[in-house]
Amino acid sequence: MGEIAPMRRLQAGAHQGRPYGGHYMTDKNLRSATLLVHQGRDRDPYTGAAAIPIYNASTYHHPEGQAGEYDYCRSGNPSRDQVEEAIALLEGGVRGFAYPTGMAAIGSALALLKSGDHLIAPEDLYGGSWRYLNTVLPQQGIDTTFVDTTDPAAVEAAIRPATRGIFLETPSNPLFKITDVRRVAEIARRRGVLTFLDNTFMTPLLQKPLALGIDVVIHSATKFLGGHSDLMAGLTTVADAELGKRLKHFQNAFGAVLSPFDSFLLARGIKTLKVRLEAAQNNAAILAEHLLAHPAVGRVLYPGLPDFPGRQLHHAQASGPGAVLSFELKENEQVGRLLRKVKLPIIAPSLGGVETILTHCWSMSHAAIPVESKRRLGIRDTLLRVSAGIEDVEDLWEDFAQALA
Ligand code: PLP
Repeated sequence: MGEIAPMRRLQAGAHQGRPYGGHYMTDKNLRSATLLVHQGRDRDPYTGAAAIPIYNASTYHHPEGQAGEYDYCRSGNPSRDQVEEAIALLEGGVRGFAYPTGMAAIGSALALLKSGDHLIAPEDLYGGSWRYLNTVLPQQGIDTTFVDTTDPAAVEAAIRPATRGIFLETPSNPLFKITDVRRVAEIARRRGVLTFLDNTFMTPLLQKPLALGIDVVIHSATKFLGGHSDLMAGLTTVADAELGKRLKHFQNAFGAVLSPFDSFLLARGIKTLKVRLEAAQNNAAILAEHLLAHPAVGRVLYPGLPDFPGRQLHHAQASGPGAVLSFELKENEQVGRLLRKVKLPIIAPSLGGVETILTHCWSMSHAAIPVESKRRLGIRDTLLRVSAGIEDVEDLWEDFAQALA
């Protein structure tokens, strides 16, 4: 499991009005589980409470007409500050931002582009992102070219004078294509293009895109960071203070902010990320091996398998294969039977929960992608995605085996 990069110092110590201190992080290189538990602030600076309370106020008193540390909830909130600091610390960024969904995080990050700009994105990516890039950005005068980002030469060839952004997902969803993040980031830097990477599948524990040269890291925190399928949230973080200022301006101006209650839930989920992800990743590796050996299964896509095509590259830029895998059934009719017979996994378009989640990508996570495009990309209707949960893996496999029989 990856360790967290040396932490950047946030303003430390107590000051007036914060008897229990402000941000507690020091310059020490805390390890990942410690950082996840303690985050940027691990107790309420105003009361010492062991959990940052849900500050459910829309506005703040201005003594003698002057704003204090907080002014208005859209602009700042102590519960939201906790998760915004946490994602910056975990990813090695200087500033983090929390939004009500992963899609709001993606849309807010891409607000760094303007009308007339051109974007490059992978052909194989989350269906909701595909929909945003294809149906919303064009209305704002931003065109996207979809390329096979696993080929850095193809990415470079797609760069035009108007190209201002490259959007990446690696491993890609649902086909687990691996993009060489360092090489694409280097091309982008040389050509003056911003890079965005959706790190939802890996989490900051397994992959640190800022350290690989990416400008903006994005998460659907609805998934592993929240971890309990009880919350929607999105996060972004950046290593560059100027980019951070622009994202802050847009977040406040547009108003897509994570609520205090959801911030509290997310901060709580983040505390246990390491133990959850380790357990889920172990389960995913075992399920991948069992599925690969099963006669009903055609192929299994999982970076942890010895003959997975992108394995070497993936492990050069990430410290684990993750807890999500895809597999293809040999026969169409086996799909309906599996979905009818399986009992433990929830059948749903999501991932990253403590419970195992089984997704029929064709009709769920990638429903927004037209049939022809799905066929061309190789997203077949026999493809299923498993987000391994933290149940006993013997129970999981017994359930899959009876449903596949
Ligand atoms: N990115 C990836 C990789 C996803 O899987 C999802 C949702 O499934 C999103 C972004 C969008 O996140 P949300 O559903 O929180 O808006």
